[in-house]
Formats: sequence, C-alpha cells, structure tokens
Amino acid sequence: MKLRSLLTSAMALTLSAVLASAPALAQDKFTFRLAETWGPNFPIFGDTTKRLAETVEKMSDGRLTIRIDSANKHKAPLGVFDMVKAGQYDMGHSASYYWKGKVPNTLFFTSMPFGMTADEQYAWFYHGGGMELMQEVYEPHNMLSFPGGNTGVQMGGWFRKEINSLEDLQGLKMRIPGFQGEVFAEVGVNPTNIPPGELYTSLERGTIDAVEWVGPALDLRLGFQQIADYYYTGWHEPATELQFLINKRSWEKLPADLQEILRIAMRSAAYDMLIHSVHENSKAWASIREKHPNVQIKNFPEDVLTAMAEANDKLLAEAAAGDPQAKKIIDSQAMYLKNARNYTDISLRAYLNTMAEINE
Ligand code: CA
Repeated sequence: MKLRSLLTSAMALTLSAVLASAPALAQDKFTFRLAETWGPNFPIFGDTTKRLAETVEKMSDGRLTIRIDSANKHKAPLGVFDMVKAGQYDMGHSASYYWKGKVPNTLFFTSMPFGMTADEQYAWFYHGGGMELMQEVYEPHNMLSFPGGNTGVQMGGWFRKEINSLEDLQGLKMRIPGFQGEVFAEVGVNPTNIPPGELYTSLERGTIDAVEWVGPALDLRLGFQQIADYYYTGWHEPATELQFLINKRSWEKLPADLQEILRIAMRSAAYDMLIHSVHENSKAWASIREKHPNVQIKNFPEDVLTAMAEANDKLLAEAAAGDPQAKKIIDSQAMYLKNARNYTDISLRAYLNTMAEINE
C-alpha cells in the first residue's frame, strides 16, 4: 500500500515536471495568420495558400490552423514583407522580387531573365545551395523564406504592333516591372508598373503599348486578347517562384513536428502550383486559340534578344561588383544553370526536338 502510494506520487511528480518543462505539448493548438499579396479568390496563386491551409489542418489533426487574409483585408499587397517581419502576421505568400527596393538581394529568388527553368531552379533551391543562400538574405530580417509555387515560363507580353527589330522597341511604353523592366529599359523601352485593375484600360487607350503579365490562364481573365494581336514568348521570367515568408519567432514557437508538417506542406503546395499552372495555362491557351484567332504567337527577333542578353549581363555584372553577397548568389546560379542546362539539353530539349521532328 505504502509502496504503491509512493510510486503513484512519484509518477505524479514526474508527470507534472514534464508538463512544466515541455515548451509545447502534443495537444497544444496554434494558429498562423497568413497575409497574401493577392486579392480574394485569385486563381492559381490563391488556390496555393488555400491548399496549404487544408493540408496543414489535416496533417496536424487540427493542431495548426492557417488563417488567410487576402489583400482586400490587410490592404497592403506589397506590405507583406514588413508585416511578417514585424510579426503582425506569422506568414506571408508573395514573391521575393517585390522586395528588391528594400533588400536588393531578395531579387534573385523568384526568376531571373535567361535563367533556370522551374525544374532546374527547384533542383538549385533544394539540392544546389539555393535555400541556404535565400536564408542568408532573409535571416537579418528575422524571417524564413521557402519556395511558394511556380508559374512556369511566363509569356513575353501582349503587343499591339509587331516587333520586327530593336528599332520598334524605342520609346515603347510597356508594363513590365522589376529587374526585367530594367533590362527592357536598357534596350530603349519605357517601362512602367501599373496596378492589374488598370492594365486593360491602359492598353486599350494607348497609355501603354504593351503589357507583360503572367501567362494564358491569368492573362485571359484580363482580356488582353481582345485588344492586342501579338503575344510574345518569354525570356524574362522562365520560372517565376512565389514565396512563403515566415516570421522567425512564430516559427520557433511551433514544436518540431508541426514545423516539419508546415515545411512539407509548403513544399507540396509549391509543387502543386507548378502543375496547376500547366493545367490552367493549357486550358486557357486552347480557349484563346479557338475564340481569338487574331492572336499570333511571336518570338522576339534575334537582335532584340541579343541586346536583352547583353543588357542582362551588364546589370548582373554591376550588381555583382557592388555587393559580395549578390556576387555569391549570381555565381551560384550561373554555375548551376550551366551544368543543369547541359543535362536539360540532352534530355528534355532532345526529346522535345525529336517530337517536333516527328510531328512536322
Ligand atoms: Ca510577369
């Protein structure tokens, strides 16, 4: 009797000691508030955060809930970096290159002109040191950054008149943001950034002559096919990767198993966005082909592409010369691209060339 009661109280003591010392227990519940750059029900991008929230909820048996606020709620589509950094939100879904004005080296983790394809870039992120470099850039801002879904190759834009040479680009007003816009500027284009809601009207009224957005699925919704006949193929964003941002303090509050669930769910949601993009773009392109025979697919002429490539090299060399961290990232991407592309050439490219020959 005495022994049993002693044992029982010893067990109770041990249990209470465990309870007091454990930072988080299996039954503890967590809610992460996520701010996304996109408006409510934004196709593909918005589906990615919804999918993430559902997966995390199920995998954690309800222990981790993600509450999504779209841009209509937080009113700061391009404020996601600051809001997550400050801890106002635990998480964000956006694109790293939007922060280049604040932290220039965030630019490199979305997609670079003449850069890697989605396959090559995911390989760089997860196996080629890309994640470590990205973390180095976000660490001083108390955030973690993870790949957040890929659009695949973006289209080069809608033009109202055909581009036959470099001459045709001189003074052309085009909606093309970011580093890509800087490359266009180097070859004579007048780049502007106009909010999505005003793009159609701006193109229709001639405020701009051309517009770059994403690809068939997202472009079709904005109606450019009704007012522009020339749809150019892309070179500027070959694999646009969105981003999950996480406040470091919020991340550290999670027990290790929930961190791992969130990590795996983000990776799965990102991959899902890539294949969802393929699916939606294929459907949308079929629809444009059928309903808008006015739309012609064009490649930029060789002199334009050569000038773009030279401008891109020049801008990258300037960035590398001005900052050792930028140089490290640029070199890592260039080396990785070289090796990966040698392999892509004898595998995917060879296969697509073979298929093209057969179908000729
Ligand atoms: Ca774009």
